[in-house]
Amino acid sequence: MVSRTARLVDLPIEDAELLTAFGLATVEDLLRHYPRRHYERQEVSDFSRLRDGDYVTVQARVARVDRVRAREKWLTKLSLTDGRRTVTATFFNDRWVHRAVARDQYLVVAGTVKSFRGALQFTHPDIAQNDPEDHLDGTLGAVYPASRKVPSWRIRRAVRTLLPLIDFGVDPVPADVLARHELTDEATALRNIHRPVDRPTLAGAMDRLRFEEAFVTQVVLAQRRAEAAKQPARPRPRAAAGLLDAFDARLPFTLTAGQRQVAAEIEADLAGESPMLRLLQGEVGSGKTVVALRAMLTVIDAGGQAALLAPTEVLAQQHARSIAALLGPLAEAGRLGGAEVATRVALLTGSMPATRRRQELLDAASGTAGIVVGTHALLEQHVQFADLGLVVVDEQHRFGVEQRDALRAKAAQPPHVLVMTATPIPRTVAMTVYGDLEISTLRELPGGRLPIETQLVSAPEHPEWVPRAWGRIHEEVAKGHRAYVVCPRIDPGDSDAEPAAINDDEGSQLFADDPWPAAARPPSRAVLSTYDELATGPLSDLRVSMLHGRMAAEDKDATMRGFAAGDIDVLVTTTVIEVGVDVPAATVMVVCDADRFGISQLHQLRGRVGRGSAAGLCLLFTTAPPGTPAYERLDSVAGTLDGFTLARYDLEMRREGDVLGDRQSGRRSSLRLLRLLRDEAVIARARVDATDLVAGDPLLAKHPALAAAAEELAGEGRADYLAKA
Ligand code: ADP
Ligand code: MG
Repeated sequence: MVSRTARLVDLPIEDAELLTAFGLATVEDLLRHYPRRHYERQEVSDFSRLRDGDYVTVQARVARVDRVRAREKWLTKLSLTDGRRTVTATFFNDRWVHRAVARDQYLVVAGTVKSFRGALQFTHPDIAQNDPEDHLDGTLGAVYPASRKVPSWRIRRAVRTLLPLIDFGVDPVPADVLARHELTDEATALRNIHRPVDRPTLAGAMDRLRFEEAFVTQVVLAQRRAEAAKQPARPRPRAAAGLLDAFDARLPFTLTAGQRQVAAEIEADLAGESPMLRLLQGEVGSGKTVVALRAMLTVIDAGGQAALLAPTEVLAQQHARSIAALLGPLAEAGRLGGAEVATRVALLTGSMPATRRRQELLDAASGTAGIVVGTHALLEQHVQFADLGLVVVDEQHRFGVEQRDALRAKAAQPPHVLVMTATPIPRTVAMTVYGDLEISTLRELPGGRLPIETQLVSAPEHPEWVPRAWGRIHEEVAKGHRAYVVCPRIDPGDSDAEPAAINDDEGSQLFADDPWPAAARPPSRAVLSTYDELATGPLSDLRVSMLHGRMAAEDKDATMRGFAAGDIDVLVTTTVIEVGVDVPAATVMVVCDADRFGISQLHQLRGRVGRGSAAGLCLLFTTAPPGTPAYERLDSVAGTLDGFTLARYDLEMRREGDVLGDRQSGRRSSLRLLRLLRDEAVIARARVDATDLVAGDPLLAKHPALAAAAEELAGEGRADYLAKA
């Protein structure tokens, strides 16, 4: 018997080195390399989807085999058919092909399709007979994610050889759980996903393996929740006649019903004996910042300090500014004009002058500053607090669990944590990705705000719309408003921004039919060149400035101030303004090459305009041809303002691995079969079972196989990626 941890190179199988180089080093790797799909014996691919230059794997019937002589050489030509169209495969001096292949056989052919004199053809593709062996035992043929060097049939052959020899070991999912959901055991499922006898068997295998993914993930998250609940936190109950009451009294508006409800949830958490771990989600402009500030004041009134962690310097500066403005004299402790009950707001960013920095560090360490706002700089070791009671993380998607933990480590007892995000999260994603957080949602926007209008401007189709867009900027500026022009990159010399990639994984191999391939796209606009162009061209009569990540912090800050104050009309910028920037007079945004941005990114971006009483307009420029997925994505953004709809759409378009941040980690996704949107019911069921099981056996002592699976998921950092998305 062969163990699942055995290395392929130690086993007597063919292609062991090739498979190892491909990333399949062990039996387990191979077992978990699930087929992309399965074909019936006489299935053929649809040739109409083939495009010049694509590397593809297709199935076809051999219509003719010809051996012809051309310039002293023998050629074998196969005419492959899908029943309607024909593609030729040419082999030079390859007698083997001539001998091995016969008319009416079914072949798997892998190679690059080229257009030659109007017809599609392969030259020396890899071919394999449609595995008669696979069908002898009545199984469906598996097609694996593969590469040029390691075509699908080599993987299939290795699996076929090994499957009967493997010792599958103990099932990580307990038998009673399996029985409850009528799922098969792991060994059967793994055998059947690779070599199913029929479609129902395959479906059963997938159901079981999908459940396992959900279950192990939920076990890890249940353990985390249990762990967190055990930690003691210092309760910070609301106190009367403190900063919070003074703040509420000077607030120029009344809180919305949603804000009041969330505030009550947070207040209850803060008064509790275990640390709050709450996610506050709400549309851009829904008033999260005010809610968070009230939580901070509650903690300060209870003797603690609060840290606010922002993803960018621009945002940290803005938070510090707007919090100080909202607090007014309440933030002027010890200063002339400061209120009697007051605190201070400190700001810490990476690129601050040393003297200023020293003062802010001192204020944080002494407790003089009740609120410390900062970027990643807050996480550094020498940053200390007198009594850190609350950590607020703004725009969670930029922060990982480690960062959260680094801040938590600065407090004597685990502080309460509030995470804010403007990207709405569908329920299942929340259950998986944010499985250790409680969730609060702000659904309504504070009254009086007009909806943002979004228009798609197709530059090649309607070139006349582009000058019209600049015209709109003129009109708005004439009314005293301001505009953003957002570009995907800073310098035209930089490598081009990745187009927001959809399905660019191995899947592209089977049918790489992106109708708008990266090579066909013009380079995207850059801030530096766009600024020059606009400032000397269509917007030369306006006050145009730049804002981007390569500017010095003081320059960025000065530019943002100038824009907010109205000394600058138009800001040419990058996604540095994506999150949280709040300039109510900004009413127009032009997003250049909008196709380079993700859906949620665009939704965030347009949230920057129309934050005041005037309506906002967002113009999405694109060169994507109508009908392509890139164009459709933009169309969906233009078509709805509902963040939840867009978040779902975004998820559907992306691979789950991306959703879980797996791309950055360069690992294979731990979720192979589970789809967060489609499998909501599976995830919900798995969560119930996982929570029960962990409640009775927190260390999984009675479930060693499950403990190993959970540890692998958590230990390899994958579970952290789960929380990072
Ligand atoms: P978010 O952080 O959710 O994007 P903010 O907290 O920045 O939203 O709020 C957006 C704007 O709305 C701010 O200018 C804020 O002062 C204002 N605001 C917040 N709550 C209310 C409210 N209840 N009524 C009116 N305006 C509000
Ligand atoms: Mg905000």
